[in-house]
Amino acid sequence: CMRKGSNLCNGDHMPQEAWPTTSTINRMLASEKVRWSLHTVRTRLAKKQQYCQFFTRFGECKKSGGKCPYIHDRAKVAICTKFLKGLCSNTSCKLTHKVLPERMPDCSYFLRGLCTNTACPYRHVKVNSKAPVCEDFLKGYCADGDECHKKHSYVCPVFEATGECPQESRCNLHHPKKKNKSKRSRADTLQNNS
Ligand SMILES: [Zn+2]
Ligand SMILES: [Zn+2]
Ligand SMILES: [Zn+2]
Ligand SMILES: [Zn+2]
Ligand SMILES: [Zn+2]
Repeated sequence: CMRKGSNLCNGDHMPQEAWPTTSTINRMLASEKVRWSLHTVRTRLAKKQQYCQFFTRFGECKKSGGKCPYIHDRAKVAICTKFLKGLCSNTSCKLTHKVLPERMPDCSYFLRGLCTNTACPYRHVKVNSKAPVCEDFLKGYCADGDECHKKHSYVCPVFEATGECPQESRCNLHHPKKKNKSKRSRADTLQNNS
């Protein structure tokens, strides 16, 4: 090497093949583009085939009349919890009165080993207490039914375990009030003492 500053000649420069040529880059970009457009098509299709959360959960949708892009399926509407307690006699009830494991909450007595009712409409599945809440169930219909090992419960598991929920009003799960009483009164006395 006679040229000034040509320290590239000392042998540690990259071999030519290691650098992608322009055509390889173009090919890579093209396939990336194809992948991306397939991805968007797939998500768009998935969106179209999704069930309407409002309709499934509440039996009605404000966007009905063909305006709602999601599926309104009467067969997948959530169970009427009032009916389960024997409190709904509304024959035109928007929710379903048909008992199916796909839409039934877990039997809390069964989970404590206390349900002996063979005709119990609630789901008799041994769900781990640490299992997450089934999102499909919360939407009103879980296609896995009795096979699902997630919690079919409207009660917030965080609230149930700790007596409080960090999401509070933003949490759309049920926060039963009774259980909190002893904890709250203790907290009150602690506050009063300080
Ligand atoms: Zn809808
Ligand atoms: Zn009802
Ligand atoms: Zn039961
Ligand atoms: Zn489920
Ligand atoms: Zn919560």
